[in-house]
Amino acid sequence: MARRKRQSHTWVYLVWGINGTVMICLLVAAAFYLTNLRASAAEELVETPLPNATQKLPPTSYFLPTLTPNPFYTPPVFETSTPFVLENGPRPSIIGFSLAGRPIEVYTFGVGEREYLIVAGIHGGYEWNTVALANELITHINEHPEVIATDATLYIIRNMNPDGEAHVHGVDGRVNNNGVDLNRNFPADNWTAEWDRDGCWIYRPTTGGLYAGSEPETRSVISFINSHKIEALISYHSAALGVFPGGVPWEGPSKQLAKALSKATKYPYPPIDTGCEYTGTLADWAVENGVGAAVDMELRDHRNTDFDENLKALKVLLSFIP
Ligand SMILES: [Zn+2]
Repeated sequence: MARRKRQSHTWVYLVWGINGTVMICLLVAAAFYLTNLRASAAEELVETPLPNATQKLPPTSYFLPTLTPNPFYTPPVFETSTPFVLENGPRPSIIGFSLAGRPIEVYTFGVGEREYLIVAGIHGGYEWNTVALANELITHINEHPEVIATDATLYIIRNMNPDGEAHVHGVDGRVNNNGVDLNRNFPADNWTAEWDRDGCWIYRPTTGGLYAGSEPETRSVISFINSHKIEALISYHSAALGVFPGGVPWEGPSKQLAKALSKATKYPYPPIDTGCEYTGTLADWAVENGVGAAVDMELRDHRNTDFDENLKALKVLLSFIP
C-alpha cells in the first residue's frame, strides 16, 4: 500500500513537473516573441523602409503575359516644324493658319510709313533654307534695330508653308497638305490648275489648287497684303535660278528691284530661263494688286542661307522706292 502510494506520488510530481516545464517554455517563448515585436516596431519607427523592402510577392503570380507586337500596327509619326523662338524680341503676329492648324507668323520691325515685306518658306521643306534665312534675318534685325530706317516698316513672314516644312526637308515637303504648289495658287490673271511641265519642277505631282486662292496659307498672305500698302516684297526660294521680277510681262519697278538685288547678291539677273511658264505666283498677283514691286528670289542652293548676300539684299529692299 505504502509503496503504491509513493509510486502514485511520483506520477503526480512527474506530471506537474512536465506541466511546469511546458509553462516555463511557453512563458520564455512569449517573452522572446514580444521582445522581438517591440524591437521590429522600433526599427520601423527609426528607418523608413524602401518601398520594395516591405513588399512581398503574393502567393499567386499576377504577372501579365508578354505582349506580342501587332505586325499590322504602324506607330504614328508626329511631325514638327522647325521651332523658332526670338529671345528678348517682339512676339510674332499670327496672320492665319495652315491646313494642319499651324500658325503663319509675321514679325514686324519699325513703325515707319513705307512698308516692306519678306515672305519665306512658300515651298516648305523643299526650300527650308529660306525659312532658316528668315530666322537669321529676324534675329539680326532684333539685335540691330538701326537697320530699319525711321520711315520704314519691315514685315517678315518666316514660314508661309509650315505643314510642308514640317513634313520633310526634301522634295515631298514642297507642297501644302492638299498637294498644292502655293506659288501657283495665287489669283493672278494667269492662274491655272494645270500647266505644261516643260522646263518646270517635275519631281512630284502637284497642282495650282481647286481654284485660285483655294488654300488657307495663300488666303492668309492675300489678306495680309490687302490690309497693308506694301512698297516692295521679296518672296524667297531656292535654288540657283536667280531673281524673277513680278508681272506678266515683267513690270518696270519689279525689274528695277530685281536688277538692284542681283547686283547686291550676285544672284543671276535676268534669271536663268528653263522654259517654264510660271502661273499664279505670289509676285505676279502682288504687282497686279497694288504692291509697288515684287520679286521671286532664289538662294544659291538648298542648304545655305547666303546670309551676308541677303543682308545686302535687305538694304536694297528697305531703300527701294518704286
Ligand atoms: Zn520655290
